[in-house]
Amino acid sequence: EEGESLKVAVRVRPFNKREIARKAKLIIAVDGDVTTVTAPDDQTDTKSFTYDHSYWSFDGFYENSDGYMAKDKKHKNGKKYADQNTVYDDLGKDILENAWQGYNATLFAYGQTGSGKSWSVIGYGPNKGIVPLICDDLFKGMTKKAAAAQYEVHFSMLEIYNEVVKDLLNPKKGKGGLKIREHPKRGFYAEGLTSVLVTNYEEMTRKMDEGTINRTIASTNMNATSSRAHTIVGIKFTQKTRNAAGVESAKNAVINLVDLAGSERVESTGATGDRLKEGAMINLSLTSLGDCIHALAEQSEGKQGVRVPFRNSSLTKLLKNALGGNSKTIMVAAISPADINYDETLSTLRYADRAKQIKTKAVVNEDPTE
Ligand code: ADP
Ligand code: MG
Repeated sequence: EEGESLKVAVRVRPFNKREIARKAKLIIAVDGDVTTVTAPDDQTDTKSFTYDHSYWSFDGFYENSDGYMAKDKKHKNGKKYADQNTVYDDLGKDILENAWQGYNATLFAYGQTGSGKSWSVIGYGPNKGIVPLICDDLFKGMTKKAAAAQYEVHFSMLEIYNEVVKDLLNPKKGKGGLKIREHPKRGFYAEGLTSVLVTNYEEMTRKMDEGTINRTIASTNMNATSSRAHTIVGIKFTQKTRNAAGVESAKNAVINLVDLAGSERVESTGATGDRLKEGAMINLSLTSLGDCIHALAEQSEGKQGVRVPFRNSSLTKLLKNALGGNSKTIMVAAISPADINYDETLSTLRYADRAKQIKTKAVVNEDPTE
C-alpha cells in the first residue's frame, strides 16, 4: 500500500530589527509553491525548491534606491501575503479534519532561532498560531455536532531540554525528567505525563499559557527570549458513539504540535561554557531527527536494509509515530528573508526538501471501548 507523503510548507517572515539595523538585503523570492534563494555575494547563484506550500509572510520592508529601509504599506494587503489565517486554512484545518476522522496528526516547525517557528505554531497575543486556531475550531465543531457523539479532549504539554523530558503542566514532577517508555501498540510515550481534560477553549488556552510559562527560557546572543528546547503540545480527541445495537465504540486521534529548538549550529550563536554543552545536547535531538529524516527518505525511495535510528534521542523516540508510522504529518520550515542568514536558510530549505520524500501510513484509530 502506498503511503502518503509528508507535507512540507516553507514560510518566510518579515525582516526583524536586527536585520533592518544591519541593512540586510532580501534574498528570498516566492512564486506559487516555489521558494528561491539567491546567494548574497553572487546574483547568478540561485537555488529553487518546490514545496507543498511556500508562504510569503514578508511584510514589505525593502531597501530603496537611496539605500534606506522603507516600508511598502500596500504590501501586506497584497494577494501574495500569507497571514496566520492563510496558514491555518491550509495546514490547521487539514489536521483538524483528520482528527475528526480518527487519524493522528503531527505538525512540526523547523528553522533557526528567530525564524518564526513559535509564531507559526503558537503565535503571540492576537496573532494566534495554528495551535490556538485548531483548539478554537475543535470546540466550535463539538458544539455544532453535540448530539452525534460524546466528546473528550485531553491536553498535554512537554519539553525536551538536554534530552530530559519535562512535564510543562507539572514541572516539579519526576526529578531528572519523565522516562520514555514503549507501548507495544501505541509506541513511545512519556511516562506519567499530565494529560488534563479540557471542556472549552478558554480552559485549554489557560493550560497552554501555564505550560508556556513553565518552559525553560535561556538567552543566547541570537534571540534573548528564544527557547533552546523542543516543545510538544499534545491534544487527544476522543469521539464515543453507540450503534443501533447499543455497542459503544471510540475514535481516538492524537494531534502533536511540535515547536523545535533552533536549528542553527552552536558556533553561530556565540555560545560558551554551559550554553555550549547545552547546544551540543540539543543538537543530539536535532541531529537524530535529521538522521531519521534521511533514512526515512531513503526507505521511501525504495532503498533496502535502511535502519531508522529513532532510538538515538528523546525527540526522535517521541516523534517516531509521526515520522515512520501512524500519522498524517506536516512540517513547517521557517526562514529569515535576510542575506545575513543565508547559510542557515539554505540548510533549512535543503532539510525541508529532504523531508518531502518521506511517506507515512496513517490509519483510523477505532476501538470498541471496554
Ligand atoms: P522562533 O520560534 O523560530 O525562534 P519566533 O516565532 O519567536 O521565532 O519569531 C521571532 C520574531 O519574529 C517574533 O517575535 C515576531 O516578531 C517575528 N515573526 C516571526 N514570524 C513572523 C511572521 N510570519 N509575521 C510577522 N512577524 C513574524
Ligand atoms: Mg520559538
